[in-house]
Amino acid sequence: MKILISACLIGTNCKYNGGNNRNEKVMQFIEGHDVIPICPEVMGGLPTPRVPAEIVCGTVVNREGRSVDREYRRGAQKALEIAVREQPDLIVLQSRSPSCGAKQRYDGTFSGTLISGRGVTAELLVQHGFHVVDVEDL
Ligand code: SF4
Repeated sequence: MKILISACLIGTNCKYNGGNNRNEKVMQFIEGHDVIPICPEVMGGLPTPRVPAEIVCGTVVNREGRSVDREYRRGAQKALEIAVREQPDLIVLQSRSPSCGAKQRYDGTFSGTLISGRGVTAELLVQHGFHVVDVEDL
């Protein structure tokens, strides 16, 4: 099986704070499969570490108030191109990220409040007919 996956879930230090979200359940699940890691935020040109961002009224803005929408959209587009090219059997994404979140994201107030909704990469993938799975539902 070919699995497209958020790179931070398999231990890549691409998270905004320079760390990762390595998940042992994921590591066991992907064993023996063809794994394609992606980090849309890095692919969009953002550094690691970086200032955390949330979606505010449809635009991605970082905690300092700077728009990073272009970088997030660019990363989403690159992720989509990889998905179209690779045609994965399964896409597993990190929860709650403004890029990868597949069912929830923060509400744009930087207060830790969650709402239903997807990050920009997850949304773009779904718009193009891909089924995305939140890692918590794996
Ligand atoms: S953009 Fe996705 S892959 Fe990259 S650190 Fe955030 S959740 Fe992980």
